[in-house]
Amino acid sequence: MILIIGAGISGISAAKNLKRDFLILEKKGDIGGLSTQYKSNKYFFDYGGHYFHFKEKPEIKKYLEKFVNFKKYDRRSKVYIVNKYIPFPLQFHLSHLPSRLKNKILEEILNCTEQQSNNLFEFVENNFGKKLSELFFKPFLSKYYRFDLKKIISNMDKGSIPIPDKKSVLQGFKGKSFLKIGYNPSFYYPEKSLKDFFIKYSNDVKKKIMVNEEVLAIDIDKKTVRTKDNFFHYEFLINSIPLKTLLQIIKQKKNFPLHTSLLNTSTLVTNVVLKRKRKNFHWVYLPENKFPFYRVGYYPGKEIPVCYLEKTVINKTKHNKANLLKDTIITLKKLNLIENKNEILYFDTKVIPISYIIFDKNWKNIVPQTLEKLKSFGIFSIGRYGAWNYTSMSDDVKSAIITANTINSLY
Ligand SMILES: Cc1cc2nc3c(=O)[nH]c(=O)nc-3n(C[C@H](O)[C@H](O)[C@H](O)COP(=O)(O)OP(=O)(O)OC[C@H]3O[C@@H](n4cnc5c(N)ncnc54)[C@H](O)[C@@H]3O)c2cc1C
Repeated sequence: MILIIGAGISGISAAKNLKRDFLILEKKGDIGGLSTQYKSNKYFFDYGGHYFHFKEKPEIKKYLEKFVNFKKYDRRSKVYIVNKYIPFPLQFHLSHLPSRLKNKILEEILNCTEQQSNNLFEFVENNFGKKLSELFFKPFLSKYYRFDLKKIISNMDKGSIPIPDKKSVLQGFKGKSFLKIGYNPSFYYPEKSLKDFFIKYSNDVKKKIMVNEEVLAIDIDKKTVRTKDNFFHYEFLINSIPLKTLLQIIKQKKNFPLHTSLLNTSTLVTNVVLKRKRKNFHWVYLPENKFPFYRVGYYPGKEIPVCYLEKTVINKTKHNKANLLKDTIITLKKLNLIENKNEILYFDTKVIPISYIIFDKNWKNIVPQTLEKLKSFGIFSIGRYGAWNYTSMSDDVKSAIITANTINSLY
């Protein structure tokens, strides 16, 4: 028997591709993990902006299209800075900045030389110069990580910070648009909704999913898993819950690293139903400290406009809903997304306790080795959180299929 922990996109994708008997144990009453939607009042909300990126994975697009149709969106994202909307990526659109800033920024970028960066702080200065780093990258990344940028290793974000080639920067300085730059120039969203995607995607495995079945302990010597009411034996275990949690619930310590050495951010997502849509972008980055949120966007594919606002919070922070609503109103007004608070029809918040992995210096010494060691005990830890990495949903589908095929080949 193959046991799968977690019925998110990773767990379900693995299950669909296994050739042996399996069972999925899911903590919650519903499937889909972070890639689905939750219901609040009469509305279904995503867990923050969630789009499929298939740029380097056409085979995953083809595979998922067997289950639902996707709608393609050409990215229209912005940066809101110095009181104006500027197309993303900012480094390619310097013409939109006031002269006092753009001349200096251009001069510095043109003088940047290729050099080794020891951390994210150095990476942005080495590639964009001091001025643009101070205007955009450092404040944005500090808000996003809430962690010392000098302690974060660079190049772990899979190209989400596009490094400018100098010719393009110069053209952008003169007014050319570069809207197709970066890792996700187009993205896809299920024709109906993420919820609908999961209903269809899980159809052939749904009878093998046990919901409300939280895994509480794993004995890796006896190959058993315990939940509140049940006890299971496994030959192989596919884990998609955060590696940090997995290390906590494995009974035998066997020199596995302490779960506390794995660092992450937590995200507070505020979802807002609006009376009308006043802007025509997908999302906007907010580097400035006058905004408590780092990103605001409209969800795609909704009949009524729904906005999400994302903010990094320190674990276990208590949130005062009234203050959050006040911040939301101020932010949406400053961005001209509402004229007054009466345009907000409904408001809801959700905390994602583990949202982004922090790649500090320990990561390289701990994560790859731990994943290999787990494999030697028959445990394949996959997905963005199971493998403790920065991956997208399509990366997770791909690695789940590879894992299922690996296990199939072991019989
Ligand atoms: C704010 C935000 C925005 C994002 N935007 C995008 C995007 O635009 N595009 C993109 O491709 N990706 C995006 N992602 C990443 C995406 O959410 C993940 O790649 C994906 O959800 C990972 O799926 P998973 O199945 O591996 O994990 P999860 O979705 O976390 O699923 C794990 C499952 O395990 C269950 N579980 C947890 N503990 C236990 C337990 N003890 N026992 C049993 N079950 C348990 C959970 O309930 C959950 O159902 C975003 C993530 C965040 C946080």
